[in-house]
Amino acid sequence: MALLDRLIAASIGLIPKFMVRRVAWRYVAGETLDDAVDAVNGLASRGCCATFDLLGEFVEEPAQADAALTEYRAVLDRIHADGLDANISIKLTAFGLLLNEDDAYGRVRNLVTHAASLGNFVRIDMEDSTCTDATFKIYRRLREDGCDNVGLVLQAYLRRTGADVDALTDLAPSYRLCKGIYVEPEEIAFKGVEEIRDNYRRVLDAMFDGGSYVGIATHDPALVDAGRAAVDERGLARDRYEFQMLLGVTEGIRDRLVAEGRRLRVYVPFGRDWYAYCVRRLKENPRIGRYVFLGLFRSGA
Ligand SMILES: Cc1cc2nc3c(=O)[nH]c(=O)nc-3n(C[C@H](O)[C@H](O)[C@H](O)COP(=O)(O)OP(=O)(O)OC[C@H]3O[C@@H](n4cnc5c(N)ncnc54)[C@H](O)[C@@H]3O)c2cc1C
Repeated sequence: MALLDRLIAASIGLIPKFMVRRVAWRYVAGETLDDAVDAVNGLASRGCCATFDLLGEFVEEPAQADAALTEYRAVLDRIHADGLDANISIKLTAFGLLLNEDDAYGRVRNLVTHAASLGNFVRIDMEDSTCTDATFKIYRRLREDGCDNVGLVLQAYLRRTGADVDALTDLAPSYRLCKGIYVEPEEIAFKGVEEIRDNYRRVLDAMFDGGSYVGIATHDPALVDAGRAAVDERGLARDRYEFQMLLGVTEGIRDRLVAEGRRLRVYVPFGRDWYAYCVRRLKENPRIGRYVFLGLFRSGA
């Protein structure tokens, strides 16, 4: 399957953009904030809350990072004005993490403070392993500066993640736990399906036992079951956890969790950068290409 995945990824440039768009639109809400708000309203009618993700990462100019701040502030204002059950997810490299860490911190602090003034919350996505330490640094600095309406993402495929949870115990962070989407070297990342799942279950237990709120982000039925079991064994109330899924993915599992009365947050990517985002994700992780490729046929494109 790996060879097929690589072949699909290598040929993405040959697929006409309008066809990629047809498939991408299942996973991306659209180009504008209005598109994303429509998607979030549709999800609300199915019992789901949401997190807005403005596409864009690894910016090369401070002006792009400033623009990300302005656009994200507008997203928060819109959530507030429309009374949506939603928060935001951000990537620190979109705020200039790799240009100047202090400036990136200033922008993120500005955004988190604005979110707090509106009673909202900011989730910091986790990017590739070159960003992990800097992400923790910024998160800790925010908390030490009194910002509590901010949470982190940890990746179960990283060997270090259990130790990271231990190191963050004093902050009892609000977490999202996912498998991890980037391709990382074997020295730092588990590669086997089962060892990643095992680490996911271990880390999830450690997060709950440390008193954290956890967003259980997965579409893997085995881990959805593990998440259910971890929560039910501890008798955790609805306000101690949520499940999280990506827009357009495993909607059947999503609907079943909602029917069980569980909180389910859908990650809603949108923005002008959708094509670059799709291509980049594909090149980073050819396995995603298989989902897109199969989607081409399912959508009849
Ligand atoms: C809400 C949310 C936020 C995330 N945030 C981050 C983050 O900050 N950093 C990070 O590194 N990763 C993030 N991820 C991605 C995550 O790390 C995984 O790469 C992704 O969720 C696939 O892992 P899985 O647990 O769903 O299991 P898998 O075994 O990979 O997937 C199970 C099934 O779900 C379907 N599926 C999964 N992913 C996709 C997809 N993209 N498109 C179509 N179908 C799919 C397939 O049918 C697949 O068989 C996030 C995921 C979610 C759900």
